Amino acid sequence: MLITTPGQDRAVVERIMTAIAAPISAHRLLVHASAGIASAPAGTPASHLLRDADAAMFTAKQRGKANWVRYAPGMEKPAQAHAQLGGDLRRALDAGEFRLVYQPIVDLRTGRVAGVEALVRWLHPERGMVPPIDFIPAAERTGLIVPLGRWVLRETCRQAAEWIAEFGPDVLEKAAPNVSVRQLHDPDFVADVRAALADSGLSASRLVLELTESAVLRGHQVLRVLHEVHDMGVRLALDDFGTGESSLSLLRAFPAAIVKLDKSFVDNIELDEPGSAAANARQAVARAVVQLADALGLDTVAEGIENQEQADRLLKLGYTVGQGYHLGRPVSAEELTARLASEQRSLRAAA
Ligand code: C2E
Ligand code: CA
Ligand code: CA
Repeated sequence: MLITTPGQDRAVVERIMTAIAAPISAHRLLVHASAGIASAPAGTPASHLLRDADAAMFTAKQRGKANWVRYAPGMEKPAQAHAQLGGDLRRALDAGEFRLVYQPIVDLRTGRVAGVEALVRWLHPERGMVPPIDFIPAAERTGLIVPLGRWVLRETCRQAAEWIAEFGPDVLEKAAPNVSVRQLHDPDFVADVRAALADSGLSASRLVLELTESAVLRGHQVLRVLHEVHDMGVRLALDDFGTGESSLSLLRAFPAAIVKLDKSFVDNIELDEPGSAAANARQAVARAVVQLADALGLDTVAEGIENQEQADRLLKLGYTVGQGYHLGRPVSAEELTARLASEQRSLRAAA
């Protein structure tokens, strides 16, 4: 906390922020600060002033790096909601309210399950099933994504090992949890992956970590972590591929094994719209991605397939593996067990 005379607060905070923003040492470390300013008449309790400044600082942080904001009434609401959701998530994790659903990743030629993506759900005691979009961003902001992601990783490995124990090694080639950038910055991440594999008995080659391009583009530290898990034999998939800014150059720096073509290039890909630039562009991207992947020795998965025409078109373009509501919605472990069991029965009947 810094106390200034009225009228000088802005100049003081700007001087501090300029000083902090200067690169430190030969390594040119960059540090950013956020600040909140609050003012009150003499005699106001310091705790009130601090609370207001805190709410303003929270608003400044939401607006991005190196910002300062002056307190205005009502600013405490988002900060309170944030604190409340953070507390709720912690409680939910301790109470075992998170569940995983599994969406099949399917061989487009045979219709067989090639793998599963694990997707987290929050089984809230009052709100019912909460989708990840409603809590993953808050979990990332509060840091709770680290213990939550660790649980997702461990549970995915445990469940995949259980399916393999029940149905044999051919039942599932891979199991893929999503990993947030925040987890990659956690010093225990590599050890967590190693422990999840060791404790479940799942072989490293069957674990695929799904990462988005923006997560991967976070500098040397993250790249080193990714190389470490890659060296363990774990495969890395680039999620939502094609939506980022530097997809192509990224593939050179990053030890990816799989690219997942984003749903936005699959939507309407079955439509032939002569003269439609948008439709042509989607097909061109889908074709370019599979050709690039082939050239680099990467596998592909086409995401968000919602009908057979899309599956046919993608197969023709060179995609052999896909995912989407048409091929299978995300379902509970029990429901996926039933699908795997029936596949195994028909395989045995055909043999
Ligand atoms: P994502 O990794 O791209 O996952 C695919 C999302 O698309 C899932 O939504 C899935 O249900 C949905 N989807 C699959 N096929 C279709 C389709 O044919 N049509 C449509 N319209 N949607 C389809 P979900 O489960 O709501 O997950 C949303 C996002 O939340 C995920 O996107 C992922 O970024 C994040 N997420 C989910 N689980 C986790 C997790 O355990 N950890 C982290 N860090 N993020 C997660
Ligand atoms: Ca994913
Ligand atoms: Ca995706």
